[in-house]
Amino acid sequence: MNKKYSAEPYRIKMVEPIKETTREQREMLLKNAGYNPFSLKSEDVYIDLLTDSGTGAMSQEQWGAMMVGDEAYAGSKSFYKLESVVKNITGYQYVMPVHQGRGAEQVFLPQLVTKAGMYYISNIHFDTTRAHVELSGARAIDCVIEECFVMDKFHPFKGNFDLVQLNKVILDKGPENIAGIIMTITNNSAGGQPVSMENLKEVKKIANKYHIATIIDGARYAENAYFIKEREKGYEDKAIIDIAREMCSYADAFLMSAKKDGLVNMGGLIVIKDNEELFNKCKIRAIPYEGFPTYGGMNGRDIEALAVGLMEALDERYLKHRIDQVRYLGDRLIEAGIPIQFPIGGHAVFVDCKSIAPHIPADQFPALAVTNAIYLEAGIRAVEIGTLLMGRDPDTHENVGTKMEYMRLTIPRRVYTYKHMDVIADAVIHVYEHRNELNGFEFVYEPPILRHFTATFKPVK
Ligand SMILES: *Cc1c(COP(=O)(O)O)cnc(C)c1O
Repeated sequence: MNKKYSAEPYRIKMVEPIKETTREQREMLLKNAGYNPFSLKSEDVYIDLLTDSGTGAMSQEQWGAMMVGDEAYAGSKSFYKLESVVKNITGYQYVMPVHQGRGAEQVFLPQLVTKAGMYYISNIHFDTTRAHVELSGARAIDCVIEECFVMDKFHPFKGNFDLVQLNKVILDKGPENIAGIIMTITNNSAGGQPVSMENLKEVKKIANKYHIATIIDGARYAENAYFIKEREKGYEDKAIIDIAREMCSYADAFLMSAKKDGLVNMGGLIVIKDNEELFNKCKIRAIPYEGFPTYGGMNGRDIEALAVGLMEALDERYLKHRIDQVRYLGDRLIEAGIPIQFPIGGHAVFVDCKSIAPHIPADQFPALAVTNAIYLEAGIRAVEIGTLLMGRDPDTHENVGTKMEYMRLTIPRRVYTYKHMDVIADAVIHVYEHRNELNGFEFVYEPPILRHFTATFKPVK
């Protein structure tokens, strides 16, 4: 390990033992799970890279803060503490906790859909965001730059909006039919790729011209701020919190899944810059769904942990280690010649399984094949992001299909060490070297919607 990758800026004071299984055991476990890693028990997983959502480790300060959580139904001390932290970070006026990111989406997104035939535009909508856009009666349009889909081509901000396309979509659909523009930072679905400050500024200019609201989907906003500091001219010497505040200045609202850069296991936020009427509407809708607006489905303990976690996630040493650790894993795979989304994003390494297993057709799920192989090899659980996840067209019942067949290696925050990254890299390299032996999978059971979670498979011989 050289200076290129910073060491953990913390000591480990509490540990959770993890079980190691034999290959024979894993063969049985995977078979019993219907060859779907979602159906494995987490205790049968050695290194769990299914998601970075709610899987991070809390600090001693967070656990300590939980002891003073105020469990009042309305107006708790814990709420006012959180409100003050969030106002400080965002520079916004109105703050409401919700139970997680999708809670924020389901309360907020319908507010801007005032008639039939409206659209939300995003760089790329996250899947629950897209679902809530559609549930609110609108349609979701993605407007990301083309470089995003060229895996091995360097671009410092692959999550950026295509501004020409954005303008065109607004004029095509009519500005009065655009409910809002959702800036997903970092851009989760494209591999945790950042959006530049300049791009956010330009999007805001376009939005202002047509009187359209802008909304930050800020699950990984701190990681985005770090990338801006690292890669964008003029930000080298800025504090992360100042970069965060400037990002927020280009939006009217900030929705957050706090399970990512809030460094908590459950929680979310709706934050609104200055539109009191909009905030009041959100309050009314929050009550029947999320709870009274000062707790929003969270308890006082978790609100306390979030107030502390939000500030810890803006700590530059924490962020440097976080981004370095993910990059270390990606660099090891690149050195071994394994095709991945480059440059490496904030929270995960996306491995291109289409080029690893070109002999497996899309409807036999090449990324599932690689994902299952690394579980068999080393007890590592990753996740398929490809044809299986995309599902079928509701009208034609054909596989929707996708340009991308990824295995996502998602790294939880403050949980695993560099040595774990080596174990992961070694397993992926082993599978890569034996890629001709990989076989595809076919359905035994295919659920009608969200099939990837509960489907079962058998290997294609
Ligand atoms: C996780 C996530 C969400 C949804 O948040 P949950 O807390 O999982 O409900 C929304 N947007 C993005 C970009 C996310 O990563």
